[in-house]
Amino acid sequence: IQILPLSFLSAADQAFVTLATTEDYCMGALVMGKSLRRHGTTRKIVVLISSSVSPEQLNSLHKRVFDEVVQVDVMDSMDRTHLSWLGRPELGVTLTKLQCWMLIKYKKCVFLDADTLVLQNVDDLFEREELSAAPDAGWPDCFNSGVFVFRPSLHTHSRLLAHAAHYGCFDGGDQGLLNSFFKDWAVKDISKHLPFVYNLSSSAIYTYLPAFQTFGHQAKIVHFLGAVKPWHLRYDQSNKDSYLDQFLNMWWAEYRSQMPPISGEVDGNQDSGDMLHVSMKLLMRSMTNGHHLTHILILSHYSLHHRRMWEKGHVDYMGKDSFENIKKKLDIFLD
Ligand code: UDP
Ligand code: MN
Repeated sequence: IQILPLSFLSAADQAFVTLATTEDYCMGALVMGKSLRRHGTTRKIVVLISSSVSPEQLNSLHKRVFDEVVQVDVMDSMDRTHLSWLGRPELGVTLTKLQCWMLIKYKKCVFLDADTLVLQNVDDLFEREELSAAPDAGWPDCFNSGVFVFRPSLHTHSRLLAHAAHYGCFDGGDQGLLNSFFKDWAVKDISKHLPFVYNLSSSAIYTYLPAFQTFGHQAKIVHFLGAVKPWHLRYDQSNKDSYLDQFLNMWWAEYRSQMPPISGEVDGNQDSGDMLHVSMKLLMRSMTNGHHLTHILILSHYSLHHRRMWEKGHVDYMGKDSFENIKKKLDIFLD
């Protein structure tokens, strides 16, 4: 694994690219990368990381997963120097993702979100052109930006930034921005519409179950989109009662196949973890059944790190875990 500044990249080739700016998304990126390898990709796999992710840690654990780890500037809403000229502080992680267009060492790339899991070889994606993507389950005239084919280009990158500065984006994320930039995607060229099985969103399963039952076995990439990610949930082989559980178990099986157990998970406080698991599952169900997302506030709070600290008995009595905060969450939950 080489750590190279972007300006060093110059040869032409093809690569899968993902992004991980936090420890949690690194877990996702590693599982995604490993799943690409498992299905025999012949392309390079690149991860963009921020300086807050320790490359040493990534290197020592996963030498065979990524061909390249590229450090990029994180542009988050705290990053005044990078975002002030844009005047769009809310575009944070969105602009970080756009830096994939700067990988000009490669001629063509496929971006995969770090919350995706590859179930079959998808190298045929490189036969597609920029910008190819699958419809979004929530608004099918937009593409979902968790899986897309693109051509790295500094020119496109700066046009994207200019577009962001001028128009902003309608959803505060990369998906809105990319859809308004590649705005003829919906109507112009059907070959740029990837089949849904290349970006099967976990939340779509229950909204059209008969379709899932008929076509679900063709799934090539599962996308765990939304606030609840697989790494927020516990691994439990006995959970086979729903399709989502099966995908979750596949994610965890991939995770297990490359990493040592998370400390505290095996011999820690099982009760609190299992309770959490059950409530997460209930909430995921209510989510997928179309109930609304206020509940997710509870979940997004439980970053893995926080959960580990909690399980080890490090409770932030005065801050995050104060009685007031817990009561607020319970109130929302009971609502
Ligand atoms: N991402 C990241 N750090 C963050 C948020 C997002 O690295 O704090 C990257 C990661 O690759 C992630 C992608 O941006 O998969 C898009 O975010 P996410 O998957 O959470 O959005 P969703 O698919 O749920 O809309
Ligand atoms: Mn995603």
